[in-house]
Amino acid sequence: MFEDLQQAPADKILALIGLYRADPRPDKVDLGVGVYKDRDGKTPVMRAVREAEKRLLQSQDTKTYLGLAGDTAFNTAMAKLSFGPAADLTRIRAAQAPGGSGALRLVAELLKRTRSDATVWLSDPTWPNHLPVMRAAGLQIRDYPYFDATSGAVRFDDMLAALRTAKSGDVVLLHGCCHNPTGANLSEAQWAEVAELLLERGLLPFVDIAYQGFGEGLDADAAGLRILAAKVPEMVVASSCSKNFAVYRDRVGAAMVMAKDSAQADVAMSQMLSAARAMYSMPPDHGAAAVRIVLEDTTLRADWEAELEEMRLRMLRLRVAFADALRRQSNSDRFDFVASHRGMFSRLGLSEAQVERLRTEHGVYMVGDSRINVAGLPEDGMDALAKAIVSVLD
Ligand code: PMP
Repeated sequence: MFEDLQQAPADKILALIGLYRADPRPDKVDLGVGVYKDRDGKTPVMRAVREAEKRLLQSQDTKTYLGLAGDTAFNTAMAKLSFGPAADLTRIRAAQAPGGSGALRLVAELLKRTRSDATVWLSDPTWPNHLPVMRAAGLQIRDYPYFDATSGAVRFDDMLAALRTAKSGDVVLLHGCCHNPTGANLSEAQWAEVAELLLERGLLPFVDIAYQGFGEGLDADAAGLRILAAKVPEMVVASSCSKNFAVYRDRVGAAMVMAKDSAQADVAMSQMLSAARAMYSMPPDHGAAAVRIVLEDTTLRADWEAELEEMRLRMLRLRVAFADALRRQSNSDRFDFVASHRGMFSRLGLSEAQVERLRTEHGVYMVGDSRINVAGLPEDGMDALAKAIVSVLD
C-alpha cells in the first residue's frame, strides 16, 4: 500500500526546535518558533483562562455533543471581538473551528463551494501554511508584493498595482494585524485604500487575524478588519485564539462570514458547517468554552485584557531595546524598522547563509527567511545578540 509513497518534507520550524534542543551552548538564543514567551522563556497559561478552566471543571455536568458550530456563545463573543461591540451581527455568522488553521480551512472550503474558480491572493511573503491550506480546499493561489526586505516596509504601491489585476470575484487574503512573517503592517489610511480598491474591483476580503492584541492593542488591531467591514458588502474572516489567549494546543479559532443580508449569511454558515461535518464534524470544546467564559465575565475579561496588554508592551520594549542595540553595534539605522514593526515577528532581511552562520557560530536560532520571534529576544543579552548579527553581515 505505502511502498510508492515518498517521505513528506519535514516542517522547517519543527526541525529548528530539534536543533535548538540539541545545542549544548548555555547562551543559545531561540528566536524561532512562533509562540509568545515571557522573560524566563516560558509560555504560561493566562490567569483568566486558568480561572475559567476551574469554573468549567466545577460546573460542566455533561460532555455530550454541542453541534457543528461548537459553542454558540463563543461564536457571538468572537464576532464581537473582531467586528467590534457595535457590529451588526444580523449579517455576520461565526463557526467555532479547531484553531486559526481550522478556521482558514473552513473559510477556504466555503469559498470553494461558492466560487470554485476564484483565485486567492496571498501576500509575498506570507505565513507558509496559507499555501497548503488553500490548496487543500482546491483553490488557486497567486501572490501580491508586500514586503521590501531592505527597508522593512510594506510595498504598498506594488501591492495595489497587483491587486488591480485580480479578476472580479477573486479573494484577497490580508493579515488583520501583526503580519507573519514580516512584522510590517498597513496603516489605517492604507486599509481604507485597500477597502476602496476591493470594493471597486469586486474582490472579496479574507482577513486572517491570529494576533489580535499583540500589535497596537485589542481594538486597534482589528481596525483594518472593521474599516473593511464598513465598506464592503461581504467578507470572510479566520481568527485564532492560540496566541492572545495562549490556548495553542487546545485548538481554538473561529471562521466568520459577513454576507449581504441575514438570509445569505445563514446559507453561507450552513455551507461552512457542512464542510466541517466532512472534515472533523465538531470542533473541540474545552478551550473555546474557557475563552467564552473569559469574554463573558467582566472581571475575568478585564484581567485577560490586562495580561494581554502586559505581553504586548513587553514585546514593544524588546523591539525598542533590540533596535537600539543593533544601531549601536552596526553604527547604522539599517535595522531601525524593528522598532516600528508590530506583533510577534520581524523579518530582518538576512540571507539564508547569514542565518545559518548565526546558528552554527553563535547559537542564535531563527527561521531561514530571517524571521525572528520578538518575544524570544534576551532582555539582558541584546548587545551580544546584535553584535553576533552584525558579525555575519557582509
Ligand atoms: N494565521 C497566521 C498568520 C498564523 O501565524 C497562525 C499561527 N501561527 C495561524 C493563522 C493559526 O494558528 P493556529 O491554527 O495555531 O490557531
